[in-house]
Amino acid sequence: MPVSQPDVVIAGGGVIGLTTACFLARNGASVLVLDRTKTGQEASWAGAGMLPPGHVLQAASPEARLRSLSHSLWPQFTAELQELSGLDNGYHVCGSLLLCRSQEAAEGMVQQWREEGCEAEVLEGAQLQRHAPELSTAWTHAVFLPQFAQVRNPRHLKALRSACEQLGVRFEEHVSTLDFEVRESRILAVRIPDHRIECSQLCLTAGAWTAGLMADLNVPIPVQPVRGQIVQLLPELQRVSCVIEDGRRYLVPRRDGLVLVGSTEERVGFQKANTVDGVQGLLEFAISLVPSLQHAAITRTWSGLRPGSPDELPLLGRVGGYSNLWVGAGHFRSGLQMSPGTALLLSQLISGRPPEISLEGLSPDRFRSQQS
Ligand SMILES: Cc1cc2nc3c(=O)[nH]c(=O)nc-3n(C[C@H](O)[C@H](O)[C@H](O)COP(=O)(O)OP(=O)(O)OC[C@H]3O[C@@H](n4cnc5c(N)ncnc54)[C@H](O)[C@@H]3O)c2cc1C
Repeated sequence: MPVSQPDVVIAGGGVIGLTTACFLARNGASVLVLDRTKTGQEASWAGAGMLPPGHVLQAASPEARLRSLSHSLWPQFTAELQELSGLDNGYHVCGSLLLCRSQEAAEGMVQQWREEGCEAEVLEGAQLQRHAPELSTAWTHAVFLPQFAQVRNPRHLKALRSACEQLGVRFEEHVSTLDFEVRESRILAVRIPDHRIECSQLCLTAGAWTAGLMADLNVPIPVQPVRGQIVQLLPELQRVSCVIEDGRRYLVPRRDGLVLVGSTEERVGFQKANTVDGVQGLLEFAISLVPSLQHAAITRTWSGLRPGSPDELPLLGRVGGYSNLWVGAGHFRSGLQMSPGTALLLSQLISGRPPEISLEGLSPDRFRSQQS
């Protein structure tokens, strides 16, 4: 039985919805989370959990501002989740090697990170091999980011869900239909099978499915699913020392010896299958970075649907034309990393407080003129 009149209804219980619920409830709001299936089973579960660093005072772009705010919140938020849930989300600082194809590329990249106030160093030749002995000797240049962290997604989602419950957040799962009652510019209530739920505020955080909900409210938004496949390996010995990235593909070693190989970027609608082509490409990529992985066991494959947006940035804030409709969606490849910052901003906005950072470049309305 859902709360009859929550302050805030959140539609979509992925990492964005659950973290927002947690931040709102922490400040005393009554919150109801609705989900089409079970919470925490979609993109947020499937992600690799990589958390790149940032520096709040030196972040200049909208992306860097949200990444930096989130970076500053992760350690404390992890501690709070552990306190509330008793669960360890696996957050730890592990460092990342960004592979480069030339010295100039490495120097350019290191400069960018340093300008943002992040620690970064160029590693070359023997120095790189000492740092990552497992790496193929074909790679001779890289940038090392020591502040780069990671989290275990499924564990983080469990901790979030449990913390929300401790804070009094209510849940309604397997909600097959969701309708909205609107008067002029105000959402009066949400209708789910057998229930009408009046709410003061409605926040849509349904990941790749958010555009469908927004369409019901006559607000077109260009959020679309982008499939990402992952292969999980178990090497005989732990052979990968830190996250290793080559452009948009990567290896993420877990502390228990597993290594994630990710990921594809495919615009194939709402299909979540793993494909021969996708898995084969990831395996070849893994071996080209760390040849000894050819002997590793393949323990699992999966995929998830990232919520993609045209500029790869989230749509975050109040939706124009409505006084009590909010959205947090379109985080594409960075939704885990950006979840604490997004939740802090949404909880501040929804409670009528000034946001921690400028929301310039993140407005949910920024694509409207292009679409109408
Ligand atoms: C392979 C892969 C690797 C990734 N790696 C990383 C990474 O290393 N670091 C990082 O920061 N990010 C990463 N990401 C991206 C990240 O996972 C996403 O940006 C993030 O999970 C989006 O969270 P979300 O809560 O918006 O969406 P989701 O987790 O998809 O949650 C949406 C929720 O809404 C629910 N829902 C859908 N329709 C409705 C409806 N009509 N009514 C109610 N509820 C509904 C769904 O059931 C789901 O629970 C990765 C993603 C993938 C797929």
